[in-house]
Amino acid sequence: MSEDTIAAIATASGASGIGIIRISGPKAVDIAQSLMFTKSGKKLDILNQPSHTVKYGFIFDGKEPVDEVLLTVFRAPRSYTAEDTVEISCHGGTFVLRRILSLTVRSGARLAEPGEFTKRAFMNGRIDLTEAESVMDIISSGNEFARKNALSVLRGGIYEKIRILRDGIIHETAFIEAALDDPEHYSLEGYGDKLKDVINKLLSDIGHMIALSDTGKVLKNGIKTVIAGKPNVGKSSILNLLSGEDRAIVTEIPGTTRDVLVSEISLDGIPLILYDTAGIRETEDKVERIGVERSRKYIEEADLVLFTLDSTTVTEKEDMEIYDCIREYGKKCIILLNKTDLGSSVADSSRFSYPVISFSAREELGISELKEKIGELFFAGAFSSGEDVYVTGERQIEELKSAAGSLKLVIKSIDEKLTEDFYTVDLMDAYSHLGNIIGEDTDDALFDRIFKEFCMGK
Ligand code: GDP
Repeated sequence: MSEDTIAAIATASGASGIGIIRISGPKAVDIAQSLMFTKSGKKLDILNQPSHTVKYGFIFDGKEPVDEVLLTVFRAPRSYTAEDTVEISCHGGTFVLRRILSLTVRSGARLAEPGEFTKRAFMNGRIDLTEAESVMDIISSGNEFARKNALSVLRGGIYEKIRILRDGIIHETAFIEAALDDPEHYSLEGYGDKLKDVINKLLSDIGHMIALSDTGKVLKNGIKTVIAGKPNVGKSSILNLLSGEDRAIVTEIPGTTRDVLVSEISLDGIPLILYDTAGIRETEDKVERIGVERSRKYIEEADLVLFTLDSTTVTEKEDMEIYDCIREYGKKCIILLNKTDLGSSVADSSRFSYPVISFSAREELGISELKEKIGELFFAGAFSSGEDVYVTGERQIEELKSAAGSLKLVIKSIDEKLTEDFYTVDLMDAYSHLGNIIGEDTDDALFDRIFKEFCMGK
């Protein structure tokens, strides 16, 4: 447990209805006691305030009342940090919050560093590392998927998967150690082949987690999608249809959508960040020129381009320019052959090497095909808005890859018929890489397991 007491403003800066100051550590309740009074300045009893209860009162700076507040007490270990914690809900102005924060410091707290409350929750063993990291993910989640996944991680979803993998590894390591120490009772005869099976299974589980992480990353960040096409093909109409709101103004005058409009949508669970750009074309018009350059820029940055053609007009130079741009940047692309409600197509979409969907923004045709195609392009067709928990942190993915690398070395050692102690080195590497994901100590766990499971030294 920490010796010092930390304090910070826990809510966003700027004027708001309420703001919260959080204090955590052994002196949290004492500090609150020194600041809380009744309206007329009489002391309130905070020292004996039961855990998880709220008290109404006033913060005083000497004789001067500073703000009217609600004070919540959480006693260790039943708090976010597992330490004594106090939350002061005051009015949300920056000045008030800073003033109260400085009073807590004067009473003995120190200003918390970013993330320090969560770090304490981890150090005090209340949450594992993936859970700690997911707290940040929940706070910054930009869509429903990201929020849901971060919450699953926070509830221990990744921890459980990693624990199972590590259990598998430690079991084998412990067996090898035991057999080397006590060959009379544990035989390594034919063990290499058995170990290989176990490792291949572990590798396939880790591989699955890594593969899912790509999907997870895409889902977490949303698919940056640009609707590109020459003027008047129906880009704004498609954007409106997909986003379900009238954000882009649809007109019949070519080139009127000059600004890039952004909307975030969920296409049956697939998060798309839609950019609607002005048509790409060579033009002398200054304003439009900027639009053209911008849309090139957006194509360059996009994960997916919805290249829109007007089925009622023949394919021309302007379409080809956009096509070339998409190819030049090597983008994933789906062609929307729009306005098919007007009859058979005269546009020559077969000359483009991207999947084509017959579409009509007006009649709302082609949306389910679009969703299916996006699923194929981004999730190898395996998208489900189901309950899988995804590893999405770069650090965690790197550790998974390193763990897989170490396990492959074990297979190599088996194939090269090296002695068993070579296996354990790489097995333990894999074990500790996986441990780094959840922030668990390596050596103690190994010894605990060896003694518990194999009763050496009886
Ligand atoms: P943009 O310049 O590419 O953004 O095109 P708009 O969305 O402004 O559409 C240009 C015109 O085509 C408007 O008059 C739309 O109503 C019309 N339009 C768009 N999509 C369709 C469609 O699917 N069918 C028909 N018949 N007209 C459409």
